[in-house]
Amino acid sequence: NRRNDCPLDKDELGSKTWAFLHTMAAYYPDKPTSEQKTDMKNFFTIFSKFYPCNTCAEDLQVQLKKSPPQTESQHQLSQWLCNIHNQVNEKLAKPSFDCNLVNQRWRDGWLDGSCD
Ligand code: FAD
Repeated sequence: NRRNDCPLDKDELGSKTWAFLHTMAAYYPDKPTSEQKTDMKNFFTIFSKFYPCNTCAEDLQVQLKKSPPQTESQHQLSQWLCNIHNQVNEKLAKPSFDCNLVNQRWRDGWLDGSCD
């Protein structure tokens, strides 16, 4: 059904992209090699140049300058990304997400078993 196969608008692209980015951070190594740390920093730099929403990309580039990716561990990277997303949430007047819950949301599922 071609009606359901349409180009993404800004919000659809946003929620799908956040899903990818948080899941990537959720599976980043606990003890990354120096190459992995450098690659992840470079990933976000390049990502911020090509993200196909101009104001989003420009704001992200400013955010990355102020707060560079923390690539020392899975914990650091996922907390850093959660904070970046919360800054976007704030700008858009969306609720802030509790970053203590980020691995439950994107990797392990909720403690009450509702994702099992
Ligand atoms: P989303 O914000 O897309 O979140 C999806 C899900 O992620 C939520 O349901 C929640 O479960 C979870 N979540 C929410 N906050 C966090 C968090 N802090 N950490 C972990 N998980 C979380 N839109 C604009 O209009 N202007 C912009 O400048 C803009 N910049 C963007 C920059 C980037 C890098 C990206 C990826 C998107 C950007 N967007 C921007 C889109 C915007 O952030 C939302 O994706 C969009 O408004 C849809 O929102 P949503 O309510 O579906 O939830």
